[in-house]
Amino acid sequence: MNNPFPYSLDNKRYHTWNYYLKTHYGTKVCKVPLNAGFTCPNRDGSKSTGGCTFCSSLGSGEFQGASKASLMEQFEHGAQIMHRKWPDAQLMAYFQSYTNTYGPLEKIKECVEPFLEREDVIGICIATRSDCLPSEVIDYLNKCADIKDIWIELGLQTIHDYTSERINRAHTYEQFKEKVQELKDTKLKICVHLMNSLPYETEEMMLQTAKEVGKLPIHALKIHMLHLIKGTKMYQQHQKAPFDLLTQEQYVQLVVKQLRLIPPHIIIQRLTGDGMKDSLAAPLWTLNKTQVTNDIDKLMAKLNVMQGDLYE
Ligand code: SF4
Repeated sequence: MNNPFPYSLDNKRYHTWNYYLKTHYGTKVCKVPLNAGFTCPNRDGSKSTGGCTFCSSLGSGEFQGASKASLMEQFEHGAQIMHRKWPDAQLMAYFQSYTNTYGPLEKIKECVEPFLEREDVIGICIATRSDCLPSEVIDYLNKCADIKDIWIELGLQTIHDYTSERINRAHTYEQFKEKVQELKDTKLKICVHLMNSLPYETEEMMLQTAKEVGKLPIHALKIHMLHLIKGTKMYQQHQKAPFDLLTQEQYVQLVVKQLRLIPPHIIIQRLTGDGMKDSLAAPLWTLNKTQVTNDIDKLMAKLNVMQGDLYE
């Protein structure tokens, strides 16, 4: 069957990150993950302690670990690995671990500026929280966006404040939306992270999250399944009082429904997350990412549906 979805170079019926990168830069682009040694206001007591209940002690940056190498050493190492697989790929520096704008402006500049100067870096991605982007940081990054593409990756996970409180996000959806509105008037590109299967969320709630976030002035989304990581607060809670986790089939069906509610111009950067085999307690099916994305493709083709076909 021909693929009727316009923003795809293959059989996928959603706006793939690969499509965006290839049409925007004309080449394969890889993100090189970095740990810049920031912490998080949700951990150090400024907002809360203990962090989001699903987050491991590595601050959502499992693959960099608690790196002691300098940023450039980390980058060179990551670039080598990427280039082994994709020799011609261009690179993005990806500040992934913890909250990468939670610190003095001078520290943020020290981290970002060396990558603005590198010719082999075509963009910089900065993972952070919506409550850690004061105006002076936004102004600075907006100036950087004259030199390279700057992506701001904002964790949200859910629009439901009750769930956010339960998982200790320590911000509301309203606060998140206000920051997105402020970012809308800049040259910064916004990618929002969502998480499916948070404790006690119903399918209806997860669909509402996709529908609402699809109306925001953002550029991209990452949709993940919850990973229950050993040692986290959520893991302990699940041990004491197990809550339902989506099966692979339920996740695939849910994601297809969510994609239909998201407008076609929003780039889908990911539909699966990276869990470390040794620390992942459940669900183990998330380790087979290719199977999950293949099942999503197959279901969309079978139902003859595509991203945004139910967007209002
Ligand atoms: S805000 Fe991010 S780094 Fe901080 S605890 Fe939550 S997921 Fe982890």
